[in-house]
Amino acid sequence: MSDCLFCKMANGEITPDIVHETDDILAFRDINPQAPTHVLVIPRRHISSINDLTEADQELVGKLYLGAKAVAGKEGIRESGYRTVMNCGAGAGQTVFHIHLHVLGGRGMQWPPG
Ligand code: 5GP
Ligand code: ZN
Repeated sequence: MSDCLFCKMANGEITPDIVHETDDILAFRDINPQAPTHVLVIPRRHISSINDLTEADQELVGKLYLGAKAVAGKEGIRESGYRTVMNCGAGAGQTVFHIHLHVLGGRGMQWPPG
């Protein structure tokens, strides 16, 4: 999608601070970090939200989580722990409508989230 911010990152039109990438996914630092490590893992292919996922996307969603694991390893937070979050819909706090898995770590986390 030409007007999608994260598509522009995926296709190189905008260059984010990349932590990890493969043919299918890209992981980059959040511009407004909520933890010492705050990385967003996105599919290169545009999908607006969880509500738009289909069975054909199953493998790709798995790759997002493997991307989160790779990020945690590179950031040294695999053992201390980290949180993965994917907001779906404005009511849940989704502001960018290209799915992204937040990877947050490097500090203690509270539960339940706000
Ligand atoms: P959401 O609120 O949709 O779950 O998460 C969107 C995230 O994208 C937010 O944490 C926000 O800080 C981040 N974000 C928004 N614009 C940019 C940007 O231009 N660059 C980067 N790296 N992150 C962004
Ligand atoms: Zn997009």
